[in-house]
Order: sequence, then structure tokens, then C-alpha cells
Amino acid sequence: MTDTIAKLDIRKCSLSDLEGVMETLGEKKFRARQVWEWLWKKGARSFDEMSNLSKALREQLDAQFLFQAIVEDKVQRSSDGTIKTRFRLHDGYLIESVLIPVPEENRFTVCVSCQVGCSLTCSFCATGQMKRVRNLDPAEIYDQVVLVNQQSLDNFGHPLTNIVYMGMGEPLLTYANVLESIDRITSPDGLGMSPRRITVSTAGIAKMIRKLADDEVRFNLALSLHAAEDGKRNQIMPINEQNNLASLVDSIDYFYQKTKNRISYEYIAFRNFNDTLRDAGKLALLCKRYPVRVNIIEYNPVEGTDFEKAEEDRIDSFAAHLRKEGVMVTVRRSRGKDIDAACGQLANKDL
Ligand code: SF4
Repeated sequence: MTDTIAKLDIRKCSLSDLEGVMETLGEKKFRARQVWEWLWKKGARSFDEMSNLSKALREQLDAQFLFQAIVEDKVQRSSDGTIKTRFRLHDGYLIESVLIPVPEENRFTVCVSCQVGCSLTCSFCATGQMKRVRNLDPAEIYDQVVLVNQQSLDNFGHPLTNIVYMGMGEPLLTYANVLESIDRITSPDGLGMSPRRITVSTAGIAKMIRKLADDEVRFNLALSLHAAEDGKRNQIMPINEQNNLASLVDSIDYFYQKTKNRISYEYIAFRNFNDTLRDAGKLALLCKRYPVRVNIIEYNPVEGTDFEKAEEDRIDSFAAHLRKEGVMVTVRRSRGKDIDAACGQLANKDL
């Protein structure tokens, strides 16, 4: 490559690309695998770290390629143990990831972002108030997992046990990048984590849910449902206008029949909007076609929206009603509220 050709991020190269690079540099082929291991198994974030390569080779790689690792910009700790980290991307944009520790259950979950901003404008969501700027590269998603895993080890002496794609952005609108990041996270050549520990959460794009099924993915799927009838869902999630509940249930049924992977519905309880027993009855009807767990989430008010959190006793009766209908339910009290790390609150607030 010459200076007139724009440099490529080395993490956009395949293993066979790297083998070609080594050949042109007059190096043995196995050097490519060494670099590959540094990139994906050891989570290196600069050429300097690649200590089993000669200094000359590291310098040649540095001259030829970019290494666009994300860097920690700001860390905030909640009194409940939740840690929110803002990361700076190579082009200056900021994204956020959240570490949610539940030591008593041996569960250490990272919530990762997949886009800068989001195009879907869900009315209760802080990210939806930002414009979508760009998709994250697979390596930028991967970096969040590597860095938050280190945070989990440093703070709790335990590696991550779960990964959820529920941060900023809609994963199914950056499909290829999300799947490639999961490939790196789960591959024995990468972090070797089980896909059963990964959940991709979507606002609901029926066509892409079918594509996940056709691609026979092995991770879990969550639908951000938040309302169990089209009229209400249209009000808070404009994506529902082209992807109504019937089409979503059909596509999830297709996904379940093909993959048998775990399905969950995320349901934020909003005061006097979706928290009545009538709403619970409608929701129960959407749980009949396939096994699904409903996660009822306490809302954290976001500036600039009119929504309020449902009262606790309302949530309890709502959950009890679902259970009576045979639905599996978890009520998730909100985490990280004091640092705006809770669901729907990621928006780089102090910028
Ligand atoms: S809830 Fe998710 S899909 Fe909707 S605007 Fe927020 S980040 Fe985007």
C-alpha cells in the first residue's frame, strides 16, 4: 500500500487478508495467525502489545494499517454497583455501555451499543431523541465487551456472564455488523463465549427477525414490546406502523420454530398507559404461540418526555395477572438510575 491509499483498520481484515499481507512483507504465514490472535483472542488494542512479533514487523503494520480501538472517556458508578462507561470512537463520537452486576446470582451483564444514536425515535427513549449518526463497526462492539469484561474482573473479580444488545441503537438495522461482532465474541478464535449468553434486543422488524431465523443464529432474541395492542404501540414506537404486532408474533414464531432459541418480551411499565389488568390480559394473548418470558421493567423518566413510571403495586398486580394466565414473568427493578444508565436513558447526557 502507498500513502495515497487510505489506510484500513486492521480489524477489517480477514485471516486470509492478513496472510496476504505477511506474504508481501516477506514474513512467514503463521505470523498472520499470531496477529489474528492478538486482535480477537487477546483483545489487543494496539500493535505495541503484540509482543511475539518483532519490533520491525509491528512498525511495518503500524505504517500500513490503522488500529481504531475505542477508548474509555468517562466512567460513572451507581450506588447499586452498576457502572456506565462512555467510550470515544476514533472519529470522536461517543457511545455508552453499562455493566450490571448481580453478584448474588453470579450474573455480570454488559449492555452494549451498536449505533451512534438511533433512527427509530421511540418516544420514551433518550437515545431516540438523538439522530442516528452511524453504525458501529464489529470491532467497536467487540471492544465494549473486552473493556467491560476487564471492568467486571477489576471491580467484582468475575468475568462477564451475559451480553445484551440493548444499548444505543437498533441491532437489526446494522445486521451484518452485529452478527459479525457476535461471531468474534463466540468464536474459539475470539472470546469463546457461548451464544446462549447473548441476547439481541429489537424494537421489532419482522423481516429481519425472519432473516435471523434463516441464518440459524444461536443467540437469544428479545422484543422491546412495551404495549400489547397496535394503537398504543404506534403511539410510542413508530416502527410498529410498518411492523404490527400480528406480523411480529408471526416472525417470532418462525424464529422459534427454526432455532428454538430463547425469546423474551421487554415491557416497560408506564403509569396510566400500559399498566392496567386489561393491558396484562392483552399481553397474555401475545404469549400463547411460543414459550416466552416477559420482563417487566420499571421506567426511568427521561427529560423531554411525558411518561412516568408505573406504581409498584400496579406492577405487582400486572405481573400476578400474567402469572395467573400461565406466563413466565420477571419484574426488573431499575438499575443505575442515579447515573442515567437504566433502560432508555443512554444519551450522553452531559454533552
Ligand atoms: S428504544 Fe431502542 S430502538 Fe427505540 S429509540 Fe431507543 S435505542 Fe432506538
